[in-house]
Amino acid sequence: MKAAFALILLIASAWAELPAFARGASGNLPSVEMFGKEYVRLSDWARANDFEVHWLKRDEGLQLTNRSARLAFALDSHDLRVAEINGAEVFLVYPVVLRSGLAYISALDLKTAIKPVLQPPHNWSGAKVKTIVIDPGHGGNDPGKEEGSHQEKKYTLLLAQELSDQLKRAGFNVSLTRMTDTRVELPERPDIARRRGADLFISLHWNSVETGRNEVKGVETYCLTPAGAPSTNARGELFGAGTKPGNLNNDQNMFLAYSVHKALLKNLDVEDHGVHRGRLSVLRTAEMPAILIEGGFMSNPAEAKRIYDPVYRKQMARAIVEGVQAYKATVEQPR
Ligand SMILES: [Zn+2]
Repeated sequence: MKAAFALILLIASAWAELPAFARGASGNLPSVEMFGKEYVRLSDWARANDFEVHWLKRDEGLQLTNRSARLAFALDSHDLRVAEINGAEVFLVYPVVLRSGLAYISALDLKTAIKPVLQPPHNWSGAKVKTIVIDPGHGGNDPGKEEGSHQEKKYTLLLAQELSDQLKRAGFNVSLTRMTDTRVELPERPDIARRRGADLFISLHWNSVETGRNEVKGVETYCLTPAGAPSTNARGELFGAGTKPGNLNNDQNMFLAYSVHKALLKNLDVEDHGVHRGRLSVLRTAEMPAILIEGGFMSNPAEAKRIYDPVYRKQMARAIVEGVQAYKATVEQPR
């Protein structure tokens, strides 16, 4: 279990009475302070946003549905940070809290995880999504993950080249942070995107684990953690949690991550590891909407076979293009 999350659970179990409700920064909804964070009753938020609330058995889970969206929270899960939004998992930075038969969600997660997906941002009028810089992870004397003779850096570049070809055919201006097996320092990568006037930055990686090699597989998509919040990757770090240049695009980052992640799940037979928040080096200083895709686990024999297969990488590239196009079609709508 993640340390930060365990700490929150510890505080939760020691916490007895609900403080009095107070009007907070969560729009017009009443809010309550828990563990020093602002929380909102899910049922209040549901009512204000025209969602119907359904409990799945007592305390096991909660579903919020309306004509266009379905949110699900598995309250018996080992990790109460998972929100399923229209079939794709999004990791919240703070767990949902269940108290006296009522479920609460943090105001920060409503603002930075739920809202950008359900009410996506729009670019200022005329601002198009045209130029994309793709960042093939690792390179040169940094091989990335290694499985036998297979090195991550080779397959990030192969996927990047395929994705570049497909995005160009779809009408985008595309370039890569590296075209060959060379080392490019991490801070240099988003800077290359800035210099080329990129509207989007997409970093590509492949995953691996030491234990559970036959079990752990699937796709996860990262965007930058909101300022002041814990990340949702393994370390759940709060280190350097101040505002980063990339936080200027919080809403676009989240909506881009969700759009691409959803397209990957829809088009590929892959396990959903969720949209995650991380203060990854290449996301921190990206001045344009930016995501990092961990496309699969090289440590899983079955998934590795697919990663090394050009036909599968073509399908994955096609899914990423679909996600980018869905993002573009929405953010380019007039405000
Ligand atoms: Zn990597």
